[in-house]
Amino acid sequence: MKIVFATGNAHKLKEIQEIAKGSGIEFVLPAEGFNPVENGKTFEENSLIKAKEAARVSKLPALADDSGLCVEALNGAPGIHSARYAETAQARIDKLLKEIAPYDNRKAEFVCSMTLVDENGNLLHSTLGICKGEIARTQAGQGGFGYDPIFIVEGTNKTMAELSDSRKNEISHRGRALRKMLALLTR
Ligand code: IMP
Repeated sequence: MKIVFATGNAHKLKEIQEIAKGSGIEFVLPAEGFNPVENGKTFEENSLIKAKEAARVSKLPALADDSGLCVEALNGAPGIHSARYAETAQARIDKLLKEIAPYDNRKAEFVCSMTLVDENGNLLHSTLGICKGEIARTQAGQGGFGYDPIFIVEGTNKTMAELSDSRKNEISHRGRALRKMLALLTR
């Protein structure tokens, strides 16, 4: 089965392909013209917007992921604005470390909302994956992407960027949401 994965983020596509290995599903990037207007107020709304847009341009069933980092002391920020919190990946990390500096509470979670629509954009399934942890004081690790170097995974002393790709996929918000989705698909 061929499904469009509604993203322009090559890291996310790689993770999805890796997690879904052996499922018989081939994930491909959206056709030209994919330009979702992510003006939803929640991860769920933005995930549906992306999935519908990918199905519209590709004329195939589409899976979307909308994800982000929610920091408790910052009332859930950067949340749905994670990708646009500052100009570059490093600037986003620096800004978050600065904003959380006054707080003792460094609890945070990565959230991933996944939505599957058919080739006409009708909603088929949605799932949620969460990975709990806390914000590190300094960044560490070279793996992953985005906020991974400053996210210490609960129960480990390591940032997400210090984990191997396969370990990240086992415990990540995206891995959890996708495995739930695959279970629904193969029911
Ligand atoms: P989206 O592509 O609109 O869903 O934006 C997601 C943003 O959240 C990314 O650009 C990253 O900044 C952040 N993010 C989501 N998932 C991860 C992850 O697995 N590691 C690190 N940052 C992530």
